[in-house]
Amino acid sequence: MAFVIVDTCTKDGHCVDACPVDCIHPTQAERGFERAPQLYINPDDCIDCGACVPVCPANSVYAAEDLPAEMTRFVEINASYYTH
Ligand code: SF4
Ligand code: SF4
Repeated sequence: MAFVIVDTCTKDGHCVDACPVDCIHPTQAERGFERAPQLYINPDDCIDCGACVPVCPANSVYAAEDLPAEMTRFVEINASYYTH
């Protein structure tokens, strides 16, 4: 199970800086950053370390298994960013 970002994300990039495996995109330097509504975690690369959770000022990062029921769609929304 990977961690998942939900749509309260403000794209401030704190989680990008904290992630040891660079699995959160798009970064500010990447194409598509401006039009992305939020950032996304690559579930294939996330190592479940949890480092992105305490640095998020918007409380927008959840372990997939801890997502509130109304937010479970974000598992697929995060994954689908990487299958385009
Ligand atoms: S849990 Fe760890 S590896 Fe996964 S996105 Fe967060 S910081 Fe990166
Ligand atoms: S730290 Fe939180 S609000 Fe900032 S980019 Fe990451 S998920 Fe979004």
